[in-house]
This record gives sequence, C-alpha cells and structure tokens, in this order.
Amino acid sequence: MTLSNSEAALRRDVAACTRMLVHENILGYSGHISARLPGRDALVIQPGVLSRSEVNPEQLVVVDFDGKVLAGKENGKPPSEVFIHTEIMKARPDVNAVAHFHPETATLFTLVDDVPFGPVKNHAARWIAGTPTHNDPSHIDSPASGKALADTLAKYEAALIRAHGAVVVAEDVRALFVDCVHFEENAQALYRAAAIGRVNPLTKEEAAAFMHSFDRPWHSAKLWDYYVGNAIKAGVVDASYAPSLE
Ligand SMILES: [Zn+2]
Repeated sequence: MTLSNSEAALRRDVAACTRMLVHENILGYSGHISARLPGRDALVIQPGVLSRSEVNPEQLVVVDFDGKVLAGKENGKPPSEVFIHTEIMKARPDVNAVAHFHPETATLFTLVDDVPFGPVKNHAARWIAGTPTHNDPSHIDSPASGKALADTLAKYEAALIRAHGAVVVAEDVRALFVDCVHFEENAQALYRAAAIGRVNPLTKEEAAAFMHSFDRPWHSAKLWDYYVGNAIKAGVVDASYAPSLE
C-alpha cells in the first residue's frame, strides 16, 4: 500500500502521540488517539489489542465513520470504543484529532459534588466555556453510545465521563497531545488546591486575557518538540522525529 505524505505524517504523529502519552502516564493500558484522514469520512487509530507503548505508524487501522475497517485489518480490530472517535468526528467537522483516556485525577471530579471541575491553571483557559460530564459510565462500544457522548461534548473541547474517563478534542494531533498534558496538569492542580483551601478557578476575564496573547500553534509546536526530545532520550520514539521548530 502506498501512503500519501499526509497520511504517513498523520500515522507518525498518532503513533508518537500515543507512545508519549503513555510515557507521561496519561494513557495507560487502555485509551486511544485518532486522527481524521483529510478529505475523507475516515480516521486512523491503533488496533485495540496493541500495547499503547509499542504502537508503530504502519500498524494503525483505517476506520470509516460507521466503524468499518477499511485498511489494516491484519493488525487487529479497532478498539471497542472506536465509536467515541467516529461519532465525534461526524458531529464536529472542526475536530481532526480525538483522545480518549482514563485519567485518574480528572475522573475523580466526576465522583464528587463538592469541587466542580474547571480551569485553574492558565493553559486550561482552553476549557473556560466548560467541560461537560457524560453521566453514563458504561463502555462506549456502539454508534448510539458514541453519539450520546458526542451530544454531551457538543461544542466543547473536552468532556468527562462519569466514573470512566475523559475525551479531549483538537484541530490536530500535536495540539491534542499538548491539550492532554495540560488537561491532566490542570486536574492535578485543582485536586491539590482543593486539598489546601477553597478553590478560586480562573475567571472568564482572566482566561480571555490569557488567550489574547496566546499563540496556540507556536505553543503546540514548542511543547511537542520538548516532549519528543525527552521521548527520544528515553527511547520512547526513534531519533527520526526531528524538531518541528527551527
Ligand atoms: Zn474508555
């Protein structure tokens, strides 16, 4: 199979993102990253059985928005929760990359009423409009349950799933990686802040002021390069992942 440059590049980013999120303890034995194939109603995602820390670009499967495998069947079935990805991409043409994971700290906030989940760190300004909670903790393994989650996510950039995990969406895989890092950083900061006192979350005005001077593409490239550099040193990805910033 000949891959177009853009599909090859996407596959590399999805595989690297998956491995690096494991290295950062954000992805574990479950969870997955997907990327929309440009101009197609299809996405790439890792096979469900493959270790998240060992996934290679050529092992990803291509799945259409009905969940049908179009390529890579020989590498294994897509994850059973692939419908999270297909239904969100169907509903959100602005979203090109989706992460589903089971973060310990962020998920805690779906279990208590006393501390609402919200942005407390400056980079969490991305979620100032809200992070809805999907109240069905079940496995999202059908088009109907995927659509229900997409309905909960609606126009937002992240959602929590009660007693289960989270979904984070972005315009590309590198920005998605950085969002996942900040999502978890924010959850940990909120958890710690709530342990020592009454939480004063970011206000809409503070978030707007922060976003005013924030260059998201530059920030995503900077952090991607930082984490790729660490990942190369740790043997998580190979040295062919050259920095994207000059
Ligand atoms: Zn899950």
